[in-house]
Amino acid sequence: MAEDGKGEGKELAEGLWIIRRRRRYLWGLLLVYIPAIWVSLEVTGSDRKTAYVFAVWFVLVFAAILAAAVVRCPRCGNPFHLSGVLPMFFRSCRHCGLGLDADRNK
Ligand SMILES: [Zn+2]
Repeated sequence: MAEDGKGEGKELAEGLWIIRRRRRYLWGLLLVYIPAIWVSLEVTGSDRKTAYVFAVWFVLVFAAILAAAVVRCPRCGNPFHLSGVLPMFFRSCRHCGLGLDADRNK
């Protein structure tokens, strides 16, 4: 599949699409935090039940951070957001500098 330039471009686009999707999950979860806690307090009226909501949210965010941190760059094959130990969620590869929208603005 990857011998011709077209196949490579497709792999790049698919790889970047996966990275963008994982980033969207992560930012979506972070944005939903305050409304989720507020709704939980309104609906349950219970700090204890809201603590469960927080625990579930925390586990989901942790999983989303891990998933986004280990996602591979489609060009160089290294972890896109990971350079060293801490993930840095910049919009380009930490290793080869491939932009998150490299398949879009051609
Ligand atoms: Zn790269």
